[in-house]
Amino acid sequence: MTTKAIWTGPRAALEEAEILLSEALYPPPGAVSFTKSDDAADDEDALWRLEAYFDTAPEPAGLKALLDQTGIGAPQFEDLPEIDWVAHALSGLGIVRAGRFVLYGAHDADKLPGEDGLIPIRIDANQAFGTGHHPTTAGCLTLLDRLAGMAPERILDLGTGSAVLAIAAAKLWNKPVLAADIDETSVKIARENVDLNGVADLIDVVVSDGFAHEKIASVAVFDFIFANILAGPLIELAPAMAAHAGRSGRVMLAGLMADQEAKVTGAYQAAGFRMINRLDHKVWPVLLFAKP
Ligand code: SAH
Repeated sequence: MTTKAIWTGPRAALEEAEILLSEALYPPPGAVSFTKSDDAADDEDALWRLEAYFDTAPEPAGLKALLDQTGIGAPQFEDLPEIDWVAHALSGLGIVRAGRFVLYGAHDADKLPGEDGLIPIRIDANQAFGTGHHPTTAGCLTLLDRLAGMAPERILDLGTGSAVLAIAAAKLWNKPVLAADIDETSVKIARENVDLNGVADLIDVVVSDGFAHEKIASVAVFDFIFANILAGPLIELAPAMAAHAGRSGRVMLAGLMADQEAKVTGAYQAAGFRMINRLDHKVWPVLLFAKP
């Protein structure tokens, strides 16, 4: 039996709850989905809906203690038959907009906004991270859109997951992108997404732990590197990033939480980078570093 817990409320409180559920609850929910629950145009006023699916129903007292600080109150519970969590939770996720990027699943292909200048990216529900519903992915896309005027020639997406950032960069700049992930399943899905988005001639996806893969190691320097990973690996990767970022090379970092920012920034400064841009995106800042 699967148990679904449902909360509705303001976006910020639910976002905080989503992070707590995913990172501080044991056992964690099998899947979490976060959607706008009404049509109010302004995100700040809209009611949002957070759903978490559990194999074993969580202790109400434990949930309350965990989520008390968010002020969202007790959820409604629903019992469901056994389901494929991931597909189920994601099939309900709506279109995500970040800057000019519009991320959608196949089920929403007929609902894309008709505005000019939008850059659609199709990412279907599956096991690779990066549907755009996580604030780090949306944050990277928002900052990327602001950097549209740059013209990097050699681009690397490290920790590509669904390949969402690689696809966005290829569509934005029409330049080749190397994409890498340590996880073989993600690489398989990334390749499918690259094909689905019609950018297979621009994006090469490889399995690589950091810069280890020969195709990455052999590129003397990159002009632009994305790394939406986590604070720990980002810090470990700082010297390698410095070795692989060219003169005025840019490195976009995400996946760190606000309270880890000083450590990450310290590691990148020590490696010779300086911060040139920063997006304050909930508790997930996105940092842009450059080599002087
Ligand atoms: N770029 C996507 C996915 C981010 S999730 C987005 O922005 O949404 C982070 C990804 O990094 C995961 O797919 C994980 O498998 C990968 N990863 C973690 N450590 C890595 C490492 N050392 N080298 C390469 N990839 C790594």
